[in-house]
Amino acid sequence: DASAMQWLPASATKGLKYPYLFTQSQAIHARSLMPCQDSPGIKTEYTARVTAPKWCTVLMSALADTDKVTEGEKNVFVWKQPNPTPAYLVALAAGNLESREISHRVRVWAEPEVVESALFEFSETEDFVQAAEELTGCPYQWQRYDILCLPPSFPYGGMENPCLTFATPTLLAGDKSLADVIAHEIAHSWTGNLVTNHTWDHFWLNEGWTVWLERKITAKVRKNEEFGRLSSQVGWKHLQDDVKLLGETNPFTALTWKLAFGEDPDNAYSGVPYEKGANLLMYLEEVVGTELFSQFVFSYIDTFKFNTVTTGAFRDHFVSFFDKLAAAEAETNTTPTKSNKKKKNKNKNNKDKEDGPSAAAANAVQAIKGLDWNSLFYSTGLPTDVTSFSNSLSKAAEDLARKWIALSATYKTDAPPAGCSATDLEGWSTMQKNVFLETLQNYTKKSLSHPSDVFTAAFLELMDRTYSFGASKNAEIMLRWQTLCLESEAEWIVDPVVDFITSQGRMKFARPLYRLLRASTIGKQIAIDTFEAKKDIYHPIARKMIAADLRRAAEAEEKEAIESQLEAEAELSSSAAKVDTTPVVTTVETESDDEAEVVPQKAPEEVVTAPTAFAVGTPEATSKGLSDQTPAPMGSPDRSITPDFSTPAATPTVTPAATPAKIATPVAPAPTPAKEPTPAPTPVATPAKEPTPQATPVATPAAKEATPAPTPVATPAKAATPAPTPAATPAAKEPTPAPTPVKEATPAKVAPAAAPVAAAPAPVAKKEDAAPQRRPVATSHEVSTFSWSGVSIFVALAGAVGFGAFFFTRRFRR
Ligand SMILES: [Zn+2]
Repeated sequence: DASAMQWLPASATKGLKYPYLFTQSQAIHARSLMPCQDSPGIKTEYTARVTAPKWCTVLMSALADTDKVTEGEKNVFVWKQPNPTPAYLVALAAGNLESREISHRVRVWAEPEVVESALFEFSETEDFVQAAEELTGCPYQWQRYDILCLPPSFPYGGMENPCLTFATPTLLAGDKSLADVIAHEIAHSWTGNLVTNHTWDHFWLNEGWTVWLERKITAKVRKNEEFGRLSSQVGWKHLQDDVKLLGETNPFTALTWKLAFGEDPDNAYSGVPYEKGANLLMYLEEVVGTELFSQFVFSYIDTFKFNTVTTGAFRDHFVSFFDKLAAAEAETNTTPTKSNKKKKNKNKNNKDKEDGPSAAAANAVQAIKGLDWNSLFYSTGLPTDVTSFSNSLSKAAEDLARKWIALSATYKTDAPPAGCSATDLEGWSTMQKNVFLETLQNYTKKSLSHPSDVFTAAFLELMDRTYSFGASKNAEIMLRWQTLCLESEAEWIVDPVVDFITSQGRMKFARPLYRLLRASTIGKQIAIDTFEAKKDIYHPIARKMIAADLRRAAEAEEKEAIESQLEAEAELSSSAAKVDTTPVVTTVETESDDEAEVVPQKAPEEVVTAPTAFAVGTPEATSKGLSDQTPAPMGSPDRSITPDFSTPAATPTVTPAATPAKIATPVAPAPTPAKEPTPAPTPVATPAKEPTPQATPVATPAAKEATPAPTPVATPAKAATPAPTPAATPAAKEPTPAPTPVKEATPAKVAPAAAPVAAAPAPVAKKEDAAPQRRPVATSHEVSTFSWSGVSIFVALAGAVGFGAFFFTRRFRR
């Protein structure tokens, strides 16, 4: 029942033949998987040894250390992550998997039925990685970048597990139009995985930077700066929606949080750290100029790589970088070196040119002095210093939407607006179509008080005949199209909506559509019945969230009924005015999409039965849109998961393998006192820098059998317990190490207590070195055990020992 794991029965996979397992550790689920210091500020290298049935391919967020070895009826996989990584980035997946090469370091993994589509969809991955290397000035440090396309129940868009990004199958749009999610996960290879937020209070440093970099990557690869602004515009709407949902004064709408001790970081999750974080970086870029900001990015990554960073450290580094730059340039300009003299003479009449660079740095320093850092980091609500997103791409979409809106007012004939036709959207990106549909949504929302202004079903049918949104294979477009139609109460959209939300379990799509269906007059009961009948197909986290959404809707209805009754009674007797009708305060949860979802704190225990498949075998089942995609399963399993694989048997045992207890990167102190931006801790030493050659990147298809499974690492005094459990299964595939960054997975919130280990979520501000203060926790490697129908997977997570050793080292050192 580890909250980090989701066990899927064969019926929930595309192939329908074998079960499937995947983990999701962010933010604080790693503790349910292994003994560890489950805080992002603590990093360590690790090794792992996994035993699985022969049919099964095992993948981890690490490099294959040796070829797969057969031991009896099972295969043994050995993994090694040579870079220091935090526990939340430890991931494992196992199932009937195949791979295809994209480049010397990039490969896609998926079930055989989906692998070709994944290969096509993610074919630009190597270009993205190269673009990120250029933008950060830092070579890719994880050796392999593999992508695992998960089953449809994956509740998130992606998760940036090092060497092996986990991705939702809803990205398989058939036209590479959703590849920006992969750009996001790739960006995490630098911002998040290499430079990590010191505690979850500073989550914006992971996600804000990653969104910023993701947009730079896509703009660079597409050779069009407008893409970045277009994406920012769509992101801005997301931010507005989330701030509205949370409330403008909600402390979690500030960039830097102050999570209480023991509080689940997912409680704070929303689009805020992503979009508000990216907005701050865009603003700073504007303040100092793009050219100088690029230099700062190089310095930031180089300074903090393999380490962690706090908000204060970020600010201090930013300030000092420009101070030094200005000083150096001033010196260059005033020191009469030979070459300088020459230059000066040469440019005697061109002072501007001569002083250009140093003046720019000095100007930047001046501008930085005017920044109100406290406000930037700690103010709640929408940011005030926002860069303009205006761009030609969104303007075209908004103009077209306005034509349709104008037509809707006088709509009589069954013809599109003058000059409009199916070719309007030709060449448009997904983002542009999103802007078009969101512009229409904004209009209908505003018109709700004038129901006659809302689009009619016939009008929407005309739009669909013109642009075929209902037949789109793109899940993002499907979401917005169905949202628009539901808000307009077009009855014929109900069936497609039901198809869509039962064919994949990504929370970004399922949750809002369930809520809208429930709120509509045309689908209220259908929403309730559909969930009741299909809830087992969802990942436990998604199931819990949708159930909570529906419950809240019911409660709100009830409350409203009571209030109106009270009002009526109050009217009857004027003296009743004193009746206390204070409404119960309900907590609002953001609907974070892809990334981490806000999981209701104490969700009612639900008995989870094994998920039954999404419309796996029936591609067409999905609404016209996603036909044969398999929605990806999301990472974070819920505590309530009950793996119910029929086979009683074998329980794979995870055994901590040898673990090199290394000390990972020193963590920067995480100060973040209340207001003041905390003094920036300077990260310091970065242990493992160079990529370690070693990795055995690729999997070797051909099975190499029989190699004694070497246990890579030395095992310190602890006994590594290799626990091979033989479960033979025919056909074996080989795993290949695959690094993969994922999008933003946000781990579901977990019940705090998961594991035996003390890991602590975000420590409270002001404690420097919060980590060391934690209780020591189990260092002994406890063995986690999970079972999988008759098979056992035996994972030796040396990392467990490593984390423990790191902890003690730090603790006793001080
Ligand atoms: Zn992310």
